[in-house]
Amino acid sequence: MRAIFIFFTVFFQITNVFSREVKKRLVLRDENFRGVIQEKILPDLISNDSYNGKYFKIVYGKSNNAISFDETEDIQLKAATTYYHLNKARNFFVNIVHSQYVQNLPQIVVRIDLINVFNEVGHFANDNLDPQFNNALTVPEGAGYPSKEIGPWGIEVWFRPAKEINIKDFPGSFESLGGIKASLISFRNQTHMSNFQSFINSLLLGGTASSISSNGPIRLVGSSIMVEAIYQSSDFVASFFGRKIYRLDAALVPEIIYHEFSHVALSEHLELSHSTPVNEGLADYFAGKISNSKKLAMKIKDYNLFNGKEVKKKQQYQMAFERGEYANTDFVFGLLWNIGETIGIDIENDFIYHLASRLSTNVSIRDDLIQATLDTCKLDCKNPLNDRLKLYKLYSSKNF
Ligand SMILES: [Zn+2]
Repeated sequence: MRAIFIFFTVFFQITNVFSREVKKRLVLRDENFRGVIQEKILPDLISNDSYNGKYFKIVYGKSNNAISFDETEDIQLKAATTYYHLNKARNFFVNIVHSQYVQNLPQIVVRIDLINVFNEVGHFANDNLDPQFNNALTVPEGAGYPSKEIGPWGIEVWFRPAKEINIKDFPGSFESLGGIKASLISFRNQTHMSNFQSFINSLLLGGTASSISSNGPIRLVGSSIMVEAIYQSSDFVASFFGRKIYRLDAALVPEIIYHEFSHVALSEHLELSHSTPVNEGLADYFAGKISNSKKLAMKIKDYNLFNGKEVKKKQQYQMAFERGEYANTDFVFGLLWNIGETIGIDIENDFIYHLASRLSTNVSIRDDLIQATLDTCKLDCKNPLNDRLKLYKLYSSKNF
């Protein structure tokens, strides 16, 4: 009798956990791509009092415990927003592009408000070393360091806290250009386009020594057009636009969350420890697709630096885009976004995902990425011969 009683108690507790719908306030995009806060059901939770789910566990800083539903509203808004959008991104890769790799991934730990630099051996670098803000990153798994009591960890997604940065602290004052909005327009139209990206990076990362690591400059979430779209359309930062203070709460921006999960999904072939124009362009491509916003798609179509209608100086391919200071995510992102127009919008997501599986970490744009699109087309395109000719045409118009 007692055994039966225990059985039913346990049974009801389990079913309770799985059937209880937890609704939380989180950041979504409305039809006009504006950030709004709404209540949404959190899918696939395995806890009834914390942000611990089947696929993601949201923790605070260096902690390994899921954030509790009793936490402050601020922290819960970040926890709920990252949890919800990470599940949405995972769904995209499992159900739209049928990624076996993503389907089989173990639960991923997601850290919010973490300022530590990533350390391949120690997991977290020392607290006082170069604290990080206004950014997000995805880190590869590690074996740990048992004699120092550092356990192994899996792939993790880290969100940095927002920090206000005054325009006066930027190297080379942008103040004279009449604020950031004016600077963006002037950069887009007048200067070499790859400077535009480093400009945005230095803007958000503060342009301090902290934006340079041993792996070269730390790239901010993807291409400048995505960053700009995010900036212009997020109510949480819009009020800072045109003023002299900037900040970015990466955990509250759906596209940054999609971008980071795309790195996870692509990590089967593209190592997480390396940021290259091809890796970043691919992550931005999927971020744009997962977002599924007409407004965002229109903006990318009009303003991408590859062949956007509204862009005065469209980019031609240059060797300098491959590596280093002029590494150009914008060019790759624009290129990938335009492939669908050539091979057919209905197969583009599968196509780009299959394309990614033909790439490895340090691929070049000109030799490897271009060749991979042609090889993918042999198998995926509806009219392989014709479509490959169209791709050739697209590439030769860009100086490849
Ligand atoms: Zn990235």
